[in-house]
Amino acid sequence: MTNIHHQGGITRRGFFERSAGALATAGLLAGGVDASEVAPDPEKKLDMATPDSAPTPGKIALEEHFALPGTIPDNYTSLPTPESRRQIQDLGSGRIAEMDRSGLELCILSESGPASIQTVLKTSEAVDRSRRSNDYLVEHVAKYPKRLKGFAALPMQDPQAAAQELTRCIKELGFCGALVNGFTQINEADSAVFYDLPQYWPFWATVQQLDVPFYLHPRFPLATRQQAYEGHAWIAGSAWGFAVETSIHALRLMGSGLFDEYPKLKVILGHLGEGLPFGIWRVDHRISRTSVRPKAKLPIAHYLRENFYITTSGAFRTQALTDVIMEVGADRVLYSVDYPYEDMGEATEWFDKAPISEPDRVKIACGNARQLLRL
Ligand code: MN
Repeated sequence: MTNIHHQGGITRRGFFERSAGALATAGLLAGGVDASEVAPDPEKKLDMATPDSAPTPGKIALEEHFALPGTIPDNYTSLPTPESRRQIQDLGSGRIAEMDRSGLELCILSESGPASIQTVLKTSEAVDRSRRSNDYLVEHVAKYPKRLKGFAALPMQDPQAAAQELTRCIKELGFCGALVNGFTQINEADSAVFYDLPQYWPFWATVQQLDVPFYLHPRFPLATRQQAYEGHAWIAGSAWGFAVETSIHALRLMGSGLFDEYPKLKVILGHLGEGLPFGIWRVDHRISRTSVRPKAKLPIAHYLRENFYITTSGAFRTQALTDVIMEVGADRVLYSVDYPYEDMGEATEWFDKAPISEPDRVKIACGNARQLLRL
């Protein structure tokens, strides 16, 4: 927990965001006025300080991670503290207590870490690992059925086995869908296989038939394909590279015609859409003005709005959230934290006070998730 967000009185950040909220209500932000130009000095404290209220209860979060015991090495840079490495392996009371402190009613857990299924080169091993991961998860979430649920890990190395495992997870284990950590490697370390390819279409037919969402989660680019990041390791990971990898993968799905064939598919993206809401207008604009066209029948933005859902995981920024809501609508946005890579307290401190309408806040906090996951 970061304590700076829980000081008595109004924090500097809380004060500024309330000012921005008032401006948004007055229509000033929509009119193109930069809040920082007109807001009162954020360094000053309000005269009438009000205590921070308790977190709004009832939130549902969809990008919350666990790891199998023994799969997180001590030198794993994405979880640099012993505490965070403990948190990702805690599927019990410690995690529930954190959820209680942040008003999180339900978390959908998924496996993510350096040993995710998509990095397993041998297909038979990936199939076994997926089963073990999903069996482990269901055993633990069963202890807190109202607080924890699961997204399936899938052996995408074998599309047919992935479809079978997803079917098992939905029909027998009661999971809510799947979360896959980016493209998959198969047989060779230097292989990157994307899911728009024809061999995956029968898998997508199963996803549509089961009517469950598929969460496309980031992963690191392959070590052999990081030329652009050379000498700047900080760019390759979650700071920027994750969004590049995942947005390209999502654009491949959209442009392939996959959603023309399976129009009811539901894909979830984290991190406020990995940059796509911001860039989608230009994507279609440039396609319309060049001779290089995707296979898909409709504008790319159509698929972003009709086949994708977007979560707030690890992107606690009102300016960006407003852009996402304006591009895809509040019905398509869902709350998430990205625990333990992110802090539940920081996420809730931002979200509960973000200057958006109360009906939208309720939809994003839980209403959309209840509908999407049929809770
Ligand atoms: Mn994540």
